[in-house]
Amino acid sequence: MSGISLATAINNQWVSNMGTINCVGILTSGGDAPGMNAAIRAVTRSAIYNGFEVKGIYRGYRGLITGEIVPFRTENVSNIIQHGGTILKTARCKEFETPEGRKQAYDTLVKEGINALVVIGGDGSLTGARIFAQEYDFPIVGLPGTIDNDLYGTDHTIGYDTALNTIMEAVDKIRDTATSHERLFFIEVMGRDAGFLALNGAIATGCEAAIIPEISTEIDQLEELVKNGFRKSKNSSIVLVAESPTTGGAIHLAERVKNEYPQYDVRVTILGHIQRGGSPTAHDRILASRMGAAAIDALLDGQRNVMVGIRNDEIVYVPFSKAIKYDKPINRELLNTLRKLSI
Ligand code: ADP
Repeated sequence: MSGISLATAINNQWVSNMGTINCVGILTSGGDAPGMNAAIRAVTRSAIYNGFEVKGIYRGYRGLITGEIVPFRTENVSNIIQHGGTILKTARCKEFETPEGRKQAYDTLVKEGINALVVIGGDGSLTGARIFAQEYDFPIVGLPGTIDNDLYGTDHTIGYDTALNTIMEAVDKIRDTATSHERLFFIEVMGRDAGFLALNGAIATGCEAAIIPEISTEIDQLEELVKNGFRKSKNSSIVLVAESPTTGGAIHLAERVKNEYPQYDVRVTILGHIQRGGSPTAHDRILASRMGAAAIDALLDGQRNVMVGIRNDEIVYVPFSKAIKYDKPINRELLNTLRKLSI
């Protein structure tokens, strides 16, 4: 018996146990992240391998409401693993936050014969998935697709490693000009409510400090930095700042320096959307491939309302309730390492 027919036989057994699943819909939602295409490919191929039909839903939850849906074969996902962005497009959809919008989405799923969903997105998208799954008793598996790495229950999210590498390349370049002009640079990186990109980016580029939301509520990080004289042995300083209402952002901090510590020649760079783009790293492609295949394993296994995560290099399934509810803590050892190395 070939691998495919064995898998299909196993699948058929599970299908009868589960009652209904024979067609899986995939969508990407919220902020795009490099590696989403690798995840779409993995979900599609793994689902077909296991005997499911697959349908691609365009523009996130909006496509569910408007019915922008096409059948996917293995060829639909050829030659995409190396590309950033998402071939399914992504969107933010306010209607899905209303019961009426979700009812329309459900009607579309029934009409299309889709009886399980794989949702690839961040915190907001998985919140929507959880609400919908509960409301309609609909099987959904989530994949953590966000550059912020801020989902509880997984060591890494799809897109984080690529964004970190993009930040590293950009900061290395800014370092050249910062050193030549003997300036203080605040470089703002993404990470709405989480400092993973800023903190690990700072370690990877030998920065003086990272100003992150997790710490901003505890101490005035700028005051601490100035008190310590930034790095005394160097003629330039770079500080990574997580864009967040809690840190105030790089522009706000630079204004404070100009007013409160005018002896510093301060400049700001906001890295912005370059952090989302580009070809995913090997790490993100492999992570997305493993997680995509695991999403189908989860459905075969009768799991629903879970996010696929990775912990200590093992695939894990995290209930939506936990992945969304809990904040992922920052590793204090990383903070200490940065502090020790920036003397
Ligand atoms: P991300 O998934 O990157 O965190 P958003 O927070 O913008 O992005 O969420 C993406 C989409 O998920 C929203 O546009 C909306 O359609 C859906 N969503 C977010 N929060 C909810 C909610 N509380 N209820 C229903 N849908 C939601």
